[in-house]
Amino acid sequence: MKTLISNVRAVLMDGEGTVLSSAFVAVQGDKIDYVGIQRPQGSFEREIDGEGNVLLPGFVNAHAHTAMTAMRGYGDGHNLQDWLNQYIFPVEARWDGRAMACCADLGLAEMIASGVTCIADMYMRTNVVAQRVAVSGLNANLCCGGVLFGEGFDPDANSDCVAQRALTEQWHGHNGGQILVDASIHGEYTSRAPLWEWMAAYAKEHGLGMHVHVSETQSEHEACKARHGGKTPIQILDEYGVWDTRAIAAHCVWTTPEDWAIMAEKGISCIHNPISNLKLGSGVAPVAAMAKAGVNVALGTDGVSSNNCTDFFGDLKLAAMLQNGVNHDPLATLPAAALAMATVNGGKALGRKTGRIAPGWDADLILVDFNALNLTPCHDVISNLVYAAHGCNVAMNMARGQVIYQNGEFFTIDIERVKQEVYRYALPLLFPK
Ligand SMILES: [Zn+2]
Repeated sequence: MKTLISNVRAVLMDGEGTVLSSAFVAVQGDKIDYVGIQRPQGSFEREIDGEGNVLLPGFVNAHAHTAMTAMRGYGDGHNLQDWLNQYIFPVEARWDGRAMACCADLGLAEMIASGVTCIADMYMRTNVVAQRVAVSGLNANLCCGGVLFGEGFDPDANSDCVAQRALTEQWHGHNGGQILVDASIHGEYTSRAPLWEWMAAYAKEHGLGMHVHVSETQSEHEACKARHGGKTPIQILDEYGVWDTRAIAAHCVWTTPEDWAIMAEKGISCIHNPISNLKLGSGVAPVAAMAKAGVNVALGTDGVSSNNCTDFFGDLKLAAMLQNGVNHDPLATLPAAALAMATVNGGKALGRKTGRIAPGWDADLILVDFNALNLTPCHDVISNLVYAAHGCNVAMNMARGQVIYQNGEFFTIDIERVKQEVYRYALPLLFPK
């Protein structure tokens, strides 16, 4: 289908801060094929009048555990270990495919409504998540979060290795790249060297990316150093080849300048999850310094269990302000840099051509209603987007050229059925009385 979005202010994310004031953006299939201030030649099967709206690339939520919507607000007010062991892990042991499907749908819908067009998700029962993502129309890099406890290692018996193989075979490259499968290690502290070696080799052999939780808490970071002769998670995983592919490292709160040098050299992206890190008391990732050191920094929500919502504009605003406060420097993160974290940097982190409005890039686009009360007046479009907008201002979400949400209506998810399924099936299963 050929679509034309006309008369719209367009934030191109071209690295030069270009905002076209009355633009035309044409989409053919799943790609952008024209951007300019002249109406392009030819006819279009669909025209979307962008008058009063701002068009920008859809957000990339580069670290999520989408189905954890089920645990929204559950077990709040406990320290991280008690929260995981007494609340989250017992619930996770009760998942089945049907509950996973509706809770994933709920999470995907929430993200779609706040302007997310692409996610990197790490969770269990990933095959079910992949089915729901495929239907939703969103782009996703999916992984299983491999763990290895206890003695010995047999990849044919390790359930995460078995799941990794099945996921790759069934879903990697699905629908022209809508779904990509990444290799993954849940974290250094939940696995051992044989799994690191296996995943590194598997990623290399199949041309996959890598997704790992890294140095989220101080205790995790210090325990790794104690186990591995002073080496941090970035450093010890580097020795096993884990970073010899495109890689994303979630959190990086306690990473060091030595780690950043490795990250910059190997092209490991840091995924900043500021709300989750503050809520769980993990700390503040030094992302301004990391960016200065040459590390690509993108943005994530983490699971809803530690966020507790995925209005991506909330994460964006916090990311834009947090470094300024911590560094006592109002210029530490400029609004354009924060918006880059949420868009083009996320695309780079996930190995995708998304996050820019330019010909040849994926047609992942959102419209934001700039007639909204909280966006009036507008002295600076990027400033309003970063500091003043909410998810409820998103008027349209287009992923891969398909309009999947417009003016509050979902076109790929039956949201009333999903909510019923969550209340009537998933919650009684996961939280038995
Ligand atoms: Zn996480």
